[in-house]
Amino acid sequence: TVSNGITTGKSRVLVVGATGFIGRFVTEASLASGRPTYVLVRPSPGSSCNKAKIVEAFKDKGAFLLRGTVSDRELMEKILKEHEIEIVISAVGGEQVEDQLPLIEAIKAVGTIKRFLPSEFGHDVDRADPVEPGLAMYKEKRRVRRVIEEMKVPYTYICCNSIASWPYYDNHHPSEVLPPLDQFQIYGDGTVKAYFVAGTDIGKFTMRTVDDIRTLNKTVHFRPPCNYYNINELASLWEKKIGRALPRVIVTENDLLAAAAENRIPQSVVASFTHDIFIRGCQVNFPIDGPNDIEVTNLYPDEQFHTLDDCFSDYLINLKGKSMDNLA
Ligand code: NDP
Repeated sequence: TVSNGITTGKSRVLVVGATGFIGRFVTEASLASGRPTYVLVRPSPGSSCNKAKIVEAFKDKGAFLLRGTVSDRELMEKILKEHEIEIVISAVGGEQVEDQLPLIEAIKAVGTIKRFLPSEFGHDVDRADPVEPGLAMYKEKRRVRRVIEEMKVPYTYICCNSIASWPYYDNHHPSEVLPPLDQFQIYGDGTVKAYFVAGTDIGKFTMRTVDDIRTLNKTVHFRPPCNYYNINELASLWEKKIGRALPRVIVTENDLLAAAAENRIPQSVVASFTHDIFIRGCQVNFPIDGPNDIEVTNLYPDEQFHTLDDCFSDYLINLKGKSMDNLA
């Protein structure tokens, strides 16, 4: 059934990379949406106790566990057919982007997948042009896009911009770390704006798009006006929460370029994206008015986004839970 452009049936979802940082938000949201949710988990050598716990928690919520690697084309074809998967969402890490190519071939071969969401979850990689080593990852993501389009696999690209958190330039997963308590590092003059989206909203709105006909073969941009901040404003917001001012140290464009040039993975990748966001303005320096662009708050005007203000309040609660001493 289709109402208001949104199909109301419960499509069967496969999440690849479900135990990862972004994949966890997507899997939680898929389960919360009531869709039959399958998670592909790589067999174990490097697997941690934490990963096993995440998988158990998913299973408790009704997820179906499948073991294997996404780069095994035959296995993927078998899984897609056997479990009659309709939606495939990939959240493999930035270093494994090309592992998705055999998956795309499998999707093409099976022919019944209604939507594929490749591992994007950041900037519009066809528009943003970071320095290396971030550029290498974007080139791989662009290649994945072109293969999807050439094979005529139905897709949605999720460009959710930054995760709501303090954007440390050397930190892979900043939302797992509190905003600073000693000093702020301000990039350049601190006036370039960006969009900050809570991880739970990345999951929730991603799941809203998966069987929405309006997002078929579209790039969905997340630009919630309530979460549009520059880093000076972000610093002031945190100061208000903790009730005191912190010193501000300038990290110049050259500092960020030097950190990127060190070519330490993943820290230098993050430095190159930080440069692209807060110096060049890669999230905001283009209009989203192309025929394939769509903005998420226009799609779902009645749905609220978790505000950055709320996210910072959550950090404060977390901090108070840990120790009041830090605020003294
Ligand atoms: P993580 O490294 O945290 O997780 C990657 C997941 O993919 C893990 O579960 C990993 O499993 C799994 N995986 C990797 N390779 C395979 C494979 N061959 N077969 C099956 N599973 C595999 O990734 P992130 O969450 O950091 O990144 C996901 C996407 O989100 C990327 O495109 C990244 O660029 C983007 N991103 C966006 C952010 C933002 O602020 N907007 C922030 C961070 C990421 P295993 O445990 O076995 O390794």
